[in-house]
Amino acid sequence: MLQIKSFTFNPFAENTYVLYDETGEALIIDPGCYEKQEKGALFDFIADKGLQPVKLINTHCHIDHVLGNAFVKNTYDIPLWYHKEEEPILRAVGSYAPNYGFAQYQESKADHYIKEGEWIKFGNNQLLCIWVPGHSPGHLVFYNEPSQLCIGGDALFKGSIGRTDLPGGHHETLIQAIKNKLFVLPDEVIVYPGHGPETSIGEEKKTNPFVGENSGN
Ligand SMILES: [Zn+2]
Ligand SMILES: [Zn+2]
Repeated sequence: MLQIKSFTFNPFAENTYVLYDETGEALIIDPGCYEKQEKGALFDFIADKGLQPVKLINTHCHIDHVLGNAFVKNTYDIPLWYHKEEEPILRAVGSYAPNYGFAQYQESKADHYIKEGEWIKFGNNQLLCIWVPGHSPGHLVFYNEPSQLCIGGDALFKGSIGRTDLPGGHHETLIQAIKNKLFVLPDEVIVYPGHGPETSIGEEKKTNPFVGENSGN
C-alpha cells in the first residue's frame, strides 16, 4: 500500500513528499530542504524507515521546490526527473538564489525528461504524469489511481491556485489545465499540494474561488 510522508521546508513553506510502499522503494518529490536540520529531517526519516529512494522528481523547478535537489542526488545517487519545459526555469535558479538568501544553492541536472502520460514506477506502485501548465510551463501533477491521491505541486491549492506572474506563467492556461486535466479525476482524489494543507478534487470543484463552480470560469 502506498504511504505518503510530507515535510514543510524553507521560508516559502514548501511541501516535500516521500512516497513509498511495502517494498521499501521510495520517490522523493520536490525536496525543498536547504538548512542542515531540514536535510537531516529528510535523511533521518528515510533511514529510520529503511527506505531505498529510487528516483528524485520535480513537479516543476521553482527555487522552493529544488533547493534540496543536489543534496538528494548526491546522498542517494538517484536520477532526477522533470518535464523538459522546466529546463530554463531550473537553469535560472542559480542566478537568483543568492538574492533570496540561498548562497549555498547547488545546481542539479535532469537525467530524464518526463513526458505527459508517462508512468513513474517504484516498488509495487506507479504514478501517472499529468501535464498541468500555467503556473510554470512544464508543471506536472502525479496521480496514483489505486490510492486516489495526487501530488499537485503549485497548480491547485485548497481554496486557491498557483500564481501566474512568474516567467512562463499564464493565468488562462492554468485555469483551463486545472479544469481539463484535474477536474476530470474522481471527486474523492486527495490533492497533496506544494503549499498548505491537502484538499480533494470534489471540494475544489465546489468551492474554489478561481476554478470552482461559482467562480465564473
Ligand atoms: Zn512554483
Ligand atoms: Zn512552490
